[in-house]
Amino acid sequence: MKRLMACLVLLLTCFGGAGAWAASGGTHQAQDVRVTILSTMLTDYGTLGEWGFAALVEVDGRRILFDTGGSPDVVLRNAEALKIDLSTVEDVVISHFHDDHTGGLLTLRKALMQKNPNALSRLYVGEGIFSPRYMKDGKSESANGFPALAKAYLETGGHIQQLSGPSEIATGAWLTGPVPRGHAETNWSPGLFVKSAAELVPDTLREDTSLVIATAQGVVIVTGCGHAGIMNIADDAKAMTGDARLYAVIGGIHLFAKPDAVLVETAARLKGLSYLFAAHCTGVEATFRLRELLGLDRRTAVVAAVGSSFTLGKGIDAGEIAGWVG
Ligand SMILES: [Zn+2]
Ligand SMILES: [Zn+2]
Repeated sequence: MKRLMACLVLLLTCFGGAGAWAASGGTHQAQDVRVTILSTMLTDYGTLGEWGFAALVEVDGRRILFDTGGSPDVVLRNAEALKIDLSTVEDVVISHFHDDHTGGLLTLRKALMQKNPNALSRLYVGEGIFSPRYMKDGKSESANGFPALAKAYLETGGHIQQLSGPSEIATGAWLTGPVPRGHAETNWSPGLFVKSAAELVPDTLREDTSLVIATAQGVVIVTGCGHAGIMNIADDAKAMTGDARLYAVIGGIHLFAKPDAVLVETAARLKGLSYLFAAHCTGVEATFRLRELLGLDRRTAVVAAVGSSFTLGKGIDAGEIAGWVG
């Protein structure tokens, strides 16, 4: 059953172009999909690696930047090295508050708006991203840098849309907003807390938002750190698109420190997946183990490098170096 869209629009400033925000039915399938990695640890010729994530997602001509890397200038420099013009990208998604995904936002916005004032002018985030995060002593609120970043971003003339549930931001391309946590996954590094009533409870990254693309081949998921849990994200993606066929999982799914039993369960839930394009916090060992468990191979389950890409209908182009697999 399709989940009802519950797109709560919190416009921190008034946003023009009303049609762009309108939610619509999720039956359309995207024809042309390409995802190019712009920030992760592994690199190809001439690009920079870092602990972080960013990807350019192109869906039927619409260009979306999903996350912005960790260092202020890495995504900008990588895009230049790859000869990718990001100035025509007007939509940007920040998957969650961690600074390995937010670090490039301001640098990119300020640099790209010199060429196009609307570059990265629409920022999408999941509800909960502004929540104060606390250390164990309950005193420090300095662990969430996103509110200050959002303020600086708004001062550049950008607009922020906060999602409480699924929202179709381009035809056939959905943002999940906060993902229902039916499976008890804990795919994050513990240590921070949020307040619930008067109590401190572990931070589960409630805002963690993924991009879901409906295609004729099945569902394509792009996720930053996958803190909501890839099993949960997959269930949500299936529900919002009405398509039970998983086709590709792209990005970080934060399994690098998980025991084998978690990988076995994850693979069972991702059964039938055609492509695993694993970046960032997925982990190299976890990627190889999932490759084995999912019955994939070195062309269909790949550790992503900066500059490598996934194209619907063609598969993974692992990059100039990693692509030399004979
Ligand atoms: Zn994270
Ligand atoms: Zn991360």
